[in-house]
This record gives sequence, C-alpha cells and structure tokens, in this order.
Amino acid sequence: YFCAMQNDTIVFDLIHKELERQRHGIELIASENFTSLAVMKAMGTVLTNKYAEGYPGRRYYGGCEIVDQVEQLAIDRLKQIFSCEYANVQPHSGAQANASLMLAILQPGDTFLGLDLSMGGHLTHGSPVNFSGKLYRPVAYGVRKEDARVDYDMMEAVAKKEKPKLIVCGASAYSRDWDYARIRAIADSVGALVMCDMAHPAGLIAKGLLNSPFDHCHFVTSTTHKTLRGPRGGIILMKKDFDNPFGLKDVKGNIRPMSNLIDLAVFPGTQGGPLEHVIAAKAVAFGEILSEDFTTYANQIISNARAMSSAFLAKGYHIVSGGTDNHLLLIDLRNKDISGKKAEIALGKAEITVNKNMVPFDDKSAFITSGIRVGVPAVTTRGMKEAHMATIVEMIDKALVNAEKDDVLTALRGDVNAFMKQFPLYPELV
Ligand code: PLP
Repeated sequence: YFCAMQNDTIVFDLIHKELERQRHGIELIASENFTSLAVMKAMGTVLTNKYAEGYPGRRYYGGCEIVDQVEQLAIDRLKQIFSCEYANVQPHSGAQANASLMLAILQPGDTFLGLDLSMGGHLTHGSPVNFSGKLYRPVAYGVRKEDARVDYDMMEAVAKKEKPKLIVCGASAYSRDWDYARIRAIADSVGALVMCDMAHPAGLIAKGLLNSPFDHCHFVTSTTHKTLRGPRGGIILMKKDFDNPFGLKDVKGNIRPMSNLIDLAVFPGTQGGPLEHVIAAKAVAFGEILSEDFTTYANQIISNARAMSSAFLAKGYHIVSGGTDNHLLLIDLRNKDISGKKAEIALGKAEITVNKNMVPFDDKSAFITSGIRVGVPAVTTRGMKEAHMATIVEMIDKALVNAEKDDVLTALRGDVNAFMKQFPLYPELV
C-alpha cells in the first residue's frame, strides 16, 4: 500500500521503515496512538487539494460543496460526542487550537494563569519560549509537594493576587483528575474565564470515565491524536455559546457571540485554509469514538494504566502522586539512581519508547530530568490487557537495571520484538 506503487522510493522506503519500527517496538509515549486504517486513508485523499478558507456554507473559494459536507459531519459528530453546542474542527494542531482560543480572549500583555510547565503543564500554557509566554503575561500554579496533586489553594491565591483574565487547566504530564467545579469557582471570584486543554485525557472524558470539564469551563480545547485516536490535529469546543464579555459588536451593532470570536480567531486569526483531508480523518475518528468499541477501548486504557501502576509499585518504583486516574504515569526515578535521559536512551535501545520528563520539584534540568512519562493508549490499541502490563514493567525494569549493558539491552530488544508479534499492527499494509 505504501511502497509498491510509489516512485519516490527514498521517501516511501523511510515510511516503510517507520511502519516496521512502530510494529516491532513497545510504544509508551503517553501522547501517541495508532489510528485506524480508515483514519489514515481519509488523510491520504484528494481533499488535500482543496482550498476552503471560511466555514461550511460561508467560504472564500468556489467548489466547496463536498468539503462543506465533510467538515459539517466532523463538527456534528464532535458535538454529539461531548454534547456540545459549538465545535471548531479546523485547528491544525493542539498548539494552534490554544493559540486561537487565546487570540479570541486575550490582548497582548494580558495576564493568564496556567499550570507550571515543570509540574506537567504544556508549552502553550505560558512557557517563555512559546507564543503564550511571549505575547501574554503568564502566571503559574503548581502541584502540592506532599501529594503532587494540583494545588487549588495556590491557584486561588495567585488568581486573587494577579487577577488573570483566563485560567487554563489541563496538562501534558499529570496523572490525576481535575476539580473543574473548584476551578470555575476560583475563576468566578476574580472574574476570569476558564479554558480546559483536555488534549491528553479527551478520549476518556468522551466516554464519561473522568470528570467532565464541559459543565464548568467556558472553553475546551484538545488535540485529536492522543486518546481520541484520530489524525494529528486540534479542536475547540464550548458546551454553551455565550455573548462575548468584552462588548465586541458586529457590523449591525449586535454583541458577537463567543463562537464568532473563536471562529474568527482560528480563521483568519491564526490559520489560512483548513486541512480538509485531516478534517475528513477527524470525522472518521469521531465516528469511531461514537461506537461501543471505543467505550471498551477507553475502559481498557484505565484498567491497563492501573495495572501498570501496580506493577511498577510492586517493583519499588516511585510513581508521582502514588498512582493514576487516567492513561499515564509519571515515574520519579531518583530512588533508582538513573536520570530520565539515561532511562529513555536505555529503553530506546530495547525498542521500548518513552519520554524523559521532569517530575514536580525536580532538581535536574528539562534536558536531563528525574523522571519518565509512560502512557498506555497505544499499547491498548495494539490489543494489550492488564496481564501484558506486568510483562512490560518487567522489561522496563530489566532495561533500567542494565542501562549500561548493551548486550543485555540488545537481547531484551529481541524479547520485545518477539512479544510484539502477538499484536499485529496494520496487517493490511505490506
Ligand atoms: N496541549 C497539551 C496538553 C498537550 O499535551 C499538547 C501536546 O503534547 C498540545 C496541547 C499540543 O498539541 P500539538 O502537538 O498538536 O500542537
């Protein structure tokens, strides 16, 4: 499928090598997953040829009758998944979704409050090297030292002091659920709006397995390629549309609804033409999420993450916050005398893929780190169940104990490759 018919053998050989890499290794990067073949097929279609600036029914280009239907389908399915009044499916990525939402709400220099990057927040939640930290004035809340859970008292204290216009919740490396009602109460007490970036646990929220941000947060953003198991991309949602609180009016003098400000912030605010081939793939993925199979999948993610957590604890590993409510674990390796960087490299040699990650109150830099982040969405897609998590933890432990012994890591790679043969990936692809 990928190779036989293609002339550019250099590129397609590389694509084939990547397919083999994905097949043979144990993929534990918490933000990754394997889409269905249908999702990939939708992406590789003629829709990539079409310009469609604007929104369904109001485009700046002719010939949009079909892509209008594709995009409307994606919007309708997404609204159905989360019981929402508003959805924008055009952001090219999670970062673009956040950039658009912030553009709709904040003015340059405005203060917003987000989770500290070193405690699990994302770059777009206020990092100084990101647009969010350069254009706006980010202030941060953290997690509590004693239990590594979000410090809502700190969030409240910083909010009262700094009076942010927006409070951002959600994270990239946080294994616990969120108290959205408390966040909304804090926001209301200082007149702030609330945005939840549910990129990581969105697939679990879709199936009601975690608290829902929708009743409490004004805005919800997400990627579509993590637990939602769709193509790489972003989305923006609102449970209920409302008049913008900034008094912005349209040409007729009517107060613009927030949906209008967000649509304008995505296009033309931050993007040009939408990627209709990716939007078609989003529609396919959203259709899959609405199925019972995805309910089973989401439940299995939670069971697998818990099983993996127990297996790590049994081997004396320190799990940040003591466990997990969602699809990922953050492991503090300081009692195992190995850095996150070294662990990532050793595991990589055995074809077990994780990423090094700072742990809260880390004494090492973001480049070295004291921890690793481990997630189960991808291995769950491969068909793994609880018992397989114990096998994976055995293998991880072996790699970390023998991190300096290349012969052991090479032998382990053989075991990993043999183990993964039980879980075929894209058998239709040659
Ligand atoms: N938001 C969160 C919480 C994330 O974890 C990520 C990616 O890891 C993003 C946003 C950015 O998504 P993307 O890489 O699609 O820009």
